[in-house]
Amino acid sequence: MSSDTTTAQEALTFADLGLSPKVLSAVTDAGYTVPTPIQSGAIPHALLGKDVLGIAQTGTGKTAAFVLPMITRLEKGRARARMPRTLILEPTRELAAQVEENFIKYGKNHKLNIALLIGGVSFDEQDKKLERGADVLIATPGRLLDHRERGKLLLNGVEILVIDEADRMLDMGFIPDIERICEMIPFTRQTLFFSATMPPEITKLTEKFLHAPVRVEVSKAASTSTNITQRLVKSGPKPWDKRETLRNLIKAEADGLKNAIIFCNRKVEVSDLFKSLVKYEFDAGALHGDMDQRARMAMLESFRAGKLKLLVASDVAARGLDIPDVSHVINFDVPIHAEDYVHRIGRTGRAGRLGKAFTIVTRSDTKYLDAIERLTGLKIEWHDGDLSTVVASEGSDEEAPRRGRGAPRRAGRSKDEGERGDRNRGRSRREAPAAKPVEQIEAEPAEIAPEAAGIAQERRARKDTIKSENAGRGARTETSRTDAPRSDRAARPARDDRSDRPRRDDKRHHRRDDDMSDGTVGFGDDMPAFMRIEAKA
Ligand code: AMP
Repeated sequence: MSSDTTTAQEALTFADLGLSPKVLSAVTDAGYTVPTPIQSGAIPHALLGKDVLGIAQTGTGKTAAFVLPMITRLEKGRARARMPRTLILEPTRELAAQVEENFIKYGKNHKLNIALLIGGVSFDEQDKKLERGADVLIATPGRLLDHRERGKLLLNGVEILVIDEADRMLDMGFIPDIERICEMIPFTRQTLFFSATMPPEITKLTEKFLHAPVRVEVSKAASTSTNITQRLVKSGPKPWDKRETLRNLIKAEADGLKNAIIFCNRKVEVSDLFKSLVKYEFDAGALHGDMDQRARMAMLESFRAGKLKLLVASDVAARGLDIPDVSHVINFDVPIHAEDYVHRIGRTGRAGRLGKAFTIVTRSDTKYLDAIERLTGLKIEWHDGDLSTVVASEGSDEEAPRRGRGAPRRAGRSKDEGERGDRNRGRSRREAPAAKPVEQIEAEPAEIAPEAAGIAQERRARKDTIKSENAGRGARTETSRTDAPRSDRAARPARDDRSDRPRRDDKRHHRRDDDMSDGTVGFGDDMPAFMRIEAKA
C-alpha cells in the first residue's frame, strides 16, 4: 500500500472543499461554518474518488467527513433493488443509528433511500428497504451477513465502502467479518476507512483492502481534548462509599452540571448505581448492552433531549455516541483499559465546548490510574485532596450494610436503627437481617409527596424497564444476537450482541461490562429468603 499523507488543516469554508450546492445548503442549515481538520483533510480527496485512511476519534467531525462527500457523489446515479450503492459498516447499533441521523440531516435536500441493518430489529422492515433499492446501507457486520445469506442482498453494486471505528471492530472480534465483506464488494470501489488508533492488525487490514489511500491524521490517538477539565476524586473502597462520593460530587457540581454520563465498568454496577441514584431522587437513567434496542434508543433520546440529567452507562453502550452537549463525564469506576478513559471523557467537551471529567479513585485503582496517565501523558489533578486524605467512610445511612455483631456502632444512631436493633434482639444469627445491602438499595421511599408523584412514577417506570430487561436477559431473541461476530456465533449462548467479545489485549482477571450476561446478574428464583425481606423506610 503506498499512500499520500495530507496534513489536516482548516479550510476557510465548506465551499472550498468541492461539495455540491445542495449539500452546502444542508451544512449551513446545520449551523457549521468552518470544516473541522478531518473534514478539510478528507473531503476533497473523497470527492475525487480516492481511498482515505482517516485516523480520528469521535468528536472530531469524522462522520460528516465521509457523509458529506458521499451524498455529493450519490447525486449521480440511482439505486437498484437489493443492490445498495454505498455501504457503511459500524461496530454498534447506536453508532449505525447515529450515522443514519447524519444522512438525514445532511441529505435533507436529497431523496436518499437509507436502509439501516442492525440486530434487535425484525428482518421484514429491513428487507422492504433493500427491495426498494438503497442509496445508503448502514449496517453492523453480523446483520449484514445474515441478510446476504438470506439472499436478500447483493453487494456487487457497492461503489463506496466506509469502515468506521475500525479499532473498535477489532476489539469486538469483527475483523474476520469485515474481511469477508470487503471480499464481496467489487475491487473497483472507493474505500473510506476510519480508526481512532492504528494497532498492527488494523494496519494490515488497510494494506490489504485500501488502494493508495490518502492518510489524514487529526490528532494523537491517545490524546485528550484540552477543553476538558479533568479531576480525580478520592473515595473509600466500598460500593456504598463510592456512591456517597458520587452523590456529594453531583451536589457540589450542581451549578455547572447540565447533564452527566456516569461510567461504570460492569453492567451490574450500572444497574445498582442507577437504582441507588433513583432512590436518592436523582434524575437518572441507565444504558447498557443488555437492554433491548428500543429501550436503549428511548433512553438515549431522553438524555439527548435534556429530559434526563444523569445517564449511568457501560463502555459498550456509550462508546462513540454523539451527544453534543454533555457538561460532565464521571467515571464511577476507573476504566481498566486506559484507552477507554480517553473515549469516555471524549463524551464531553465536544465541538469546542468546555467539559468536565471526574474520576472516582480508590486505593486499589492506582495501577489503572498510572496506565491512564502514561497513555495520555497527563498528570491528572486531585479535586479535593489525594488518596492519603481519604477518611474511612461510615457508609451512608441507607446503603451501607448493617454492621454485624461486635462491629462498632455509630454514634448518633437513629431511632429507627435503635428499633430495628431491639426487634432483632433475641433472634438467632441466621434470622437477623444483619448484612443485607441489596434489597435496601431497591427500597422505595415510604411516602411520595403529591407534587413529586409524577416524577416518582416516571422513575418507577424506568426501574421497571431495568427490571424487565434483567428478567429478559436469559431469553434473548435470535434477532438480537445477529450483530455478533460470525466466527463464534453458533457456539454462543443466547444473549445480546457485541458486549460479550473478549478484547484483543485482554489479560485481565477483571470482569467487564459484559460479564453479567453469563447468568450472574441476580439470584432469580433461587434468591435466598433473607434477601426478600422488605426494607422499612
Ligand atoms: P463526530 O466526530 O462525527 O461524532 O462529530 C462530533 C460532533 O461535531 C457532532 O455533534 C457534529 O454534529 C459536530 N460537527 C461536525 N462537523 C462540525 C463542524 N464543521 N462544525 C461544528 N460542529 C461540527
